[in-house]
Amino acid sequence: MKQKMVLYFPSTVTEQPFTYYLIKDYNLMVNILKANINPRKEGRAVVEISGEKKDFLAGLDFLQSRGVKIFPLEQEIVWVEERCTHCGACSVICPAGALVLERPEMTVKFHNDKCIVCEHCIKACPSRAMEARY
Ligand code: SF4
Ligand code: SF4
Repeated sequence: MKQKMVLYFPSTVTEQPFTYYLIKDYNLMVNILKANINPRKEGRAVVEISGEKKDFLAGLDFLQSRGVKIFPLEQEIVWVEERCTHCGACSVICPAGALVLERPEMTVKFHNDKCIVCEHCIKACPSRAMEARY
């Protein structure tokens, strides 16, 4: 199996060597495509994990048992800027800091590299300015 996914690490676990465990204990290949992980802060990484199916599933179970949230990366989130009214509703609920209401301009900016594809903003946006594209 080979799959790209977003891993979301709570602040309590960002210092654990998950990549090492996946490689050593579960015989998986881990290709880190993007990562933003800092000690004692929430972190995220976009990774491609591959290996035998039973190892793959066991490795994901291990991550989840340690509090890591896993989101499939079958889609990306797109900000349609011309529809955005900069109401800020999305910036309040975005768990990854990908949508930020910048001051003093009070305009929203989308930082695609931080997005964990949770889709909360799609439901929250009254202007349908956030879209999922496959
Ligand atoms: S999908 Fe939307 S709410 Fe979720 S992390 Fe990405 S920008 Fe933020
Ligand atoms: S909720 Fe929609 S309209 Fe409001 S700031 Fe976010 S993207 Fe723009």
